Formats: sequence, C-alpha cells, structure tokens
Amino acid sequence: MTGVGPGRPGVALADLTTLGLGGPARMLVVATTERELVDVVAAADTEGEPVLVVGGGSNLVVGDGGFAGTVVQVATRGERVRTARPGWVEVTVAAGVRWDEFVARSVAEGWSGLEVLSGIPGLVGATPVQNVGAYGREVEQAIIAIRAYDRVTAAVTVLARHQCGFGYRTSRLRAHHAPTGRYVVLDVMFELRRQRPSAGIAYAELARRLEVPLGTCVPAEQVRAAVLELRRAKGMVLDPADPDTRSVGSFFTNPVLDPVPAARLPAPAPRWPMPDGRVKTSAAWLIEQVGIHPGHGPGPVRVSTKHALALTHPGGGTTTGLLGLAGEIRQRVADAFGVVLQVEPVLVGTRLPAVRLGPELGGTKVPPSSGPAALRGAGGSS
Ligand SMILES: Cc1cc2nc3c(=O)[nH]c(=O)nc-3n(C[C@H](O)[C@H](O)[C@H](O)COP(=O)(O)OP(=O)(O)OC[C@H]3O[C@@H](n4cnc5c(N)ncnc54)[C@H](O)[C@@H]3O)c2cc1C
Repeated sequence: MTGVGPGRPGVALADLTTLGLGGPARMLVVATTERELVDVVAAADTEGEPVLVVGGGSNLVVGDGGFAGTVVQVATRGERVRTARPGWVEVTVAAGVRWDEFVARSVAEGWSGLEVLSGIPGLVGATPVQNVGAYGREVEQAIIAIRAYDRVTAAVTVLARHQCGFGYRTSRLRAHHAPTGRYVVLDVMFELRRQRPSAGIAYAELARRLEVPLGTCVPAEQVRAAVLELRRAKGMVLDPADPDTRSVGSFFTNPVLDPVPAARLPAPAPRWPMPDGRVKTSAAWLIEQVGIHPGHGPGPVRVSTKHALALTHPGGGTTTGLLGLAGEIRQRVADAFGVVLQVEPVLVGTRLPAVRLGPELGGTKVPPSSGPAALRGAGGSS
C-alpha cells in the first residue's frame, strides 16, 4: 500500500495479542501521536485498505492466516486533569495509556469510580468500545465523553456518553466497520469523585471478600486490592508465569434471553432480570452443566483451569484449534439448553463454526460467525 507512512510488513499478530495466536499483518504501523493514528487510518480508508486498530490485543482472536490489511498499534500517551465542579475531577486520558495504570493512579490520587475495574488488561481507548465491566460496574458509568476519529465523515468528533450507545459489552463505537468500528477513540474523558471511599459495592462476591454488606462504601485502595486478589484466583490478571492468563478473559458473554426462552431454563439456572424485561443468565453455569470442566480441551488450547468462561492458549496451539473448542462448547450448550452463546472478543480473519439447532428450535443452523456484532440476535446475548 502507499501513503500511510512507514510500517513493518509481515509482523506476527501473535506477538500483539494476549492469546499469543494469529498470523502476520500485511503492515504494522505504531502510532505514537494522535496525528499519526488519524493519518494512518484515514489513508488506509481512502485506499480501501482494511484497518485493524490494536490496543493491548486482549480482546482479539486473530486467524492463523493473519490480517490482510494495515494494523495500527495505539501508543499515544497523555492525561489532562481539570476540576469542573466541587468534589469531582475530570480526567482526559489518551487512548494509548494502559488501563490498569490509569486505574492504579486514580486510586492513588484519591479519585473513586474505577476501582472495581482494576486489573482489566488493555488500553484506555478500547474500554468504551465494548463497555468493559466487572464486579457490578461498567466503564460507561464514569465516562463523560469520547473524542474519536469518525471513519464515515473523516473528521474528529466528540461523542457525549449518551451518544455512545453503551450496552452490555457493546457500544455504538464498534458499529459500521469491522474489525475496528466506525470511531477510532483518541481520548476518553472520565468524571471521578474526589473521595477515598468507593462507590457502594454492588457485587455479592466482592462484598463477601471485603466482609461488608452489599451497598457499603469501602476505601478505594481496599476495593482495588480485593478485586485484584479475586481476579488473580480466576486467572483474570495477566501474568506471564500463569498460562491460564493467556486468554481474552471471558470468551462468551452472559446470554440475555427473552422471558419465554428464559423460562425454559432449569430452575437452578442463575437469572438476573434486566431493565428491559429480558433475563440475563450465566454462561459459565450453562457451560459447567454440559460437563465442560476447568482444563477441558486438547492441551495446546483449553478451558482455563480457573474459570469456565476463559479459553486459553498455554502454548503450541492455533486459532483454528481454539475456535474448534469454542464451537464444541457452543454446540453442547445449544443442544442442552437451546441457547447459542455469543463470543465477547473480536474475531479477525477467522470465523466460529456454525451451530446446529435441534428440531424443537426449528432445526436451523446459526451460520459461522466472525464476532460479536455478527452474532447479535442469534438467540443469545450481547
Ligand atoms: C486476562 C483478561 C481479563 C479480562 N477481563 C475483562 C473484564 O473483567 N471485563 C471486560 O470487559 N473485559 C475483560 N477482558 C477483555 C479486554 O481486556 C477488554 O476488552 C479490553 O478493554 C481490551 O483492550 P485492548 O486495548 O486490549 O483492545 P484490543 O484487544 O487491542 O482491541 C479490541 C477491539 O477494540 C478495538 N480498539 C482498540 N483500541 C481502539 C481505539 N483506540 N479506538 C477504536 N477501537 C479500538 C480493536 O480494533 C478491536 O476491535 C479481559 C481480557 C483478558 C486477557
């Protein structure tokens, strides 16, 4: 390709992803400034060249054949702090800043609002893309606005929170283009409380660990420490010495079902009512019920030994093998419960195997899927 500046051809995407899987990129450009990031994406779009913006690579499953396009790795830095109203601070953070470094800093500064999102890998710019969440909180709750390059209008724009279309592990940012969406996030503006106590603890497991009733406010440092401890025990904090962390975190989202299919689930299935009348259930529970236990899989790729929802690549595997395992899990859950699990990570240059539905569900086939957007409405969550 021409016109997008210097880059390196043929770099293995396995080196840029936490799974350690993925073939070569046609071209890799590392963007250390916002100008470079915008210019590379704009030039590639003008030329009709496929674009993949990569942050920490912690939510990407890249095919063994790699990516026939330009990969832009975000390496921008910077942060601005402003006091807009008493008791609150507005912090604008560049897309390339490591998320957990920013969370650690905010806790150390005595700003609360992000502490339960401690330990999530990746960069700040990706957090709104799938509206990251954990332990009863989603990042949208702390976001005021996002500044992004709009690939449709070819201009930099500001999206207020209500314009971002945030939902459960999704947002409008990922719409329109794939594998990187319409909006390339340049920086994110957060509003955080200037106070040490956290927001009220909204997650039972975390409240138990902290030994407080649900809804209690606890010093943010304690919340961060407890969250990191809980996450480590599940292999959910990156650790080069722990093969269970060679993953994309949860591989499947929790299914959100209409009331009728939700009523068909066995009585002990977890059920969390959603504001729109639908019911969220636990993907991990469904997977465990079909006899898929920690460590299940051929070896080079397997279910985490610590968490039923994480598929891991301890080493020597392929993306094809990983997606074969994901396909087996989806098929077994569909056969048992009529629920088609949806994937959380973004699939690049690869697809999930089709799921066959039994005659009681119309005997149809949910076609091979290339990721969360493509799967929406296919009988499960998102
Ligand atoms: C061990 C582990 C634990 C995890 N735990 C959680 C968790 O608790 N909760 C949770 O929600 N997620 C979790 N994740 C998933 C992942 O960390 C998050 O989705 C994270 O926000 C991805 O960030 P990233 O920078 O690595 O994005 P990448 O994987 O590099 O990219 C993901 C997607 O975002 C796009 N993207 C990246 N940067 C930008 C940008 N600047 N502008 C526009 N698009 C962009 C990419 O093009 C791609 O489509 C976990 C992953 C791992 C490996």
